[in-house]
Amino acid sequence: MQITKDTVVTFHYVLTELEGDQIEASYDVDPMAYLHGHQNIFPLLESALEGKVEGDKLSVTLTPADAYGERQEGNTQRVPIKHLLTKGRLKPGMTVKVNTEQGARDATVVKVGLKNVDLDTNHPLAGKHLQFDIEVMGVREATAEELDHGHAHGIGGHQH
Ligand code: ZN
Repeated sequence: MQITKDTVVTFHYVLTELEGDQIEASYDVDPMAYLHGHQNIFPLLESALEGKVEGDKLSVTLTPADAYGERQEGNTQRVPIKHLLTKGRLKPGMTVKVNTEQGARDATVVKVGLKNVDLDTNHPLAGKHLQFDIEVMGVREATAEELDHGHAHGIGGHQH
């Protein structure tokens, strides 16, 4: 079947920085699953997947504005280490999860103190041009429960 609104799509992907290094790939773990037409993935990815079928492969390039946004200079914050969701030894350059009023967010460690840490709160992929190489692994109708929740369930989707 074709990918249309209210189908659940599973896909594998390789994410690379455009003309650069591979950032991550799903092939050695589970594929991603999402509910199509509900803005659960980047809009350009969603529109590129519209009408595709199982087995189709596609490449989509995204500008920072299409993906994680531009880097904002001066997005550095000093936060108590106890507010980090990432536990263990911290060092500059590592990506950590931090609790904010908007929920858990990724940030990059700039400087580590005794009780506080300076974080660059730009998304680690902000400012990057990205290429997604996608392989559609499956397409099925969403269940009533998935439509009710607005996201896909099962492997690669929400587990709750
Ligand atoms: Zn749900």
